[in-house]
Amino acid sequence: MAKKKKGPRQAVGLKCSVCGAFGYVTEYNKNNELLKKQADGKGSFPLNKYCDVCRKHTLHTVAKKLK
Ligand SMILES: [Zn+2]
Repeated sequence: MAKKKKGPRQAVGLKCSVCGAFGYVTEYNKNNELLKKQADGKGSFPLNKYCDVCRKHTLHTVAKKLK
């Protein structure tokens, strides 16, 4: 059984800002204030990632936090 780790790294989902497809799960370090602020919805947290639906690189935003 996997235990929940209470570490500084939090898993978040990334979704394509063009088509809205949920494409990635990534982690960010919540001790990084800049990323934390953006992941809390106070920024677009834009990441250029490949979208399988758009078939090109698009900006991806944080969709939700995974627990
Ligand atoms: Zn897309």
